Amino acid sequence: MKVMKFGGTSVGKPERMHQVSQLITKDAEPTIVVLSALSGTTNALVEISNSLSQADRTAAKEKIDTLEAHYRSFVLDLLKNDDCRAKGNAIVSEHFEFLNIILRISFSEALNKDILAQGELMSTKLFSTYLEEQHIDHLLLPALEFMSIDANEEPQLGSIRSKLTAILDQHKDKKLFITQGYICRNAKGEVDNLKRGGSDYTASLVAAAVHASVCEIWTDIDGMHNNDPRVVDKTNAIKQLSFDEAAELAYFGAKILHPTCIWPAQQENVPVKLLNTMEPDAVGTTITKEAGSVGVKAVAAKDGIIAIKIKSSRMLLAYGFLRKVFEVFEKYHTSIDMITTSEVAVSLTIDSDIYLLQIVRELEPFGTVDVDDKQTIVSIVGNEIAKTENVLEKLFESVREIPVTMVSYGGSPHNISLLVPSEYKTQTLQLLNKGLFGL
Ligand code: ADP
Ligand code: ASP
Ligand code: MG
Repeated sequence: MKVMKFGGTSVGKPERMHQVSQLITKDAEPTIVVLSALSGTTNALVEISNSLSQADRTAAKEKIDTLEAHYRSFVLDLLKNDDCRAKGNAIVSEHFEFLNIILRISFSEALNKDILAQGELMSTKLFSTYLEEQHIDHLLLPALEFMSIDANEEPQLGSIRSKLTAILDQHKDKKLFITQGYICRNAKGEVDNLKRGGSDYTASLVAAAVHASVCEIWTDIDGMHNNDPRVVDKTNAIKQLSFDEAAELAYFGAKILHPTCIWPAQQENVPVKLLNTMEPDAVGTTITKEAGSVGVKAVAAKDGIIAIKIKSSRMLLAYGFLRKVFEVFEKYHTSIDMITTSEVAVSLTIDSDIYLLQIVRELEPFGTVDVDDKQTIVSIVGNEIAKTENVLEKLFESVREIPVTMVSYGGSPHNISLLVPSEYKTQTLQLLNKGLFGL
């Protein structure tokens, strides 16, 4: 069994869906295809939801109508046979009727999740209708029947595996399965999701659940690049990465992968491939257990970081101080990304301001607390990075003109992280591209 995941741009136009149908029928191996929503749809649904949460029904209605018009013309282009076109239009009607009904219901978080789920539900049903028109035998697997998260919003691989294999066992005659990325059920049984970009996570979880031979992530670029192609002009695709390297890059901002999507594949040792739907013959990036070559491989940046500094003379020679600090973050379910300590101060970073006020209030009894927002973590990732000749020299030489506020090195053999004010992100990435990769 293999898993192939296609992102928003890979299914965002009718001709792309045609191309996807060819890619998924190329070889004989049984395949589970995970689809995202058509590009732009989840953003549109987020906007609809925001308008509703602000009780602006007129704006929500306008956005729903614009989105529906897009889907109507999509169906017209995608499906040619009368019966299939009628079926496609019925799918669009069903989902837009739902969106129009919610205009009259009072807004809640559960309703928000239902709204966000419409994109993947429609893309998979429309794609399935297209496969039907092409007489390509397949089965649509509803992700809401097997994909679940627990009360801490963590996917439960064991339960996903048992539910999914039970469904697959009932359909041994089928070779091709289509399912939704991103959506799942939560501990209360409600519709929920794996956060933005979560279809990659679905693919990795499904691949781990069925012990797939490979988990292919098909997108709009030829693999993981050595730097952010949205920010830096000259970047190159990396042929090979280890799970650890890929996980660090995803977590520290390489948008091509969902931040936590590597662990399921890594846990079951399923190779992950990043491939380009628009250029299917390009080699892409292969992510495996093997570390591959030693040295710096890529740079990534994560915005929206908040730095917190706690200064206290009581920390001097005191044990148990850090534990007390960490307990505050644990209490508010806020994870720490970077940390540096000196004898009298500890600086750390978080990427969520949801509980910032409460955290600061609880830290204040320990000493002086300073908060700096609008920070960016720039991570330099590579296997055994410390063994790279002159790595620190090259790194600091490259960013000489940048006011770096924190440095973290040694926590992982694959990562050196710098904290910079966000306004310096582009310049930092460009300087590192030159200094570390000569590009
Ligand atoms: P999909 O819709 O297929 O999930 P995404 O937009 O989530 O695609 O991810 C692909 C995009 O990630 C690329 O178009 C590229 O702009 C961006 N990206 C950011 N950093 C990197 C990187 N280091 N390597 C490759 N792509 C990256
Ligand atoms: N459609 C969802 C999003 O845009 C999930 C995904 O594409 O991975 O975030
Ligand atoms: Mg994505």
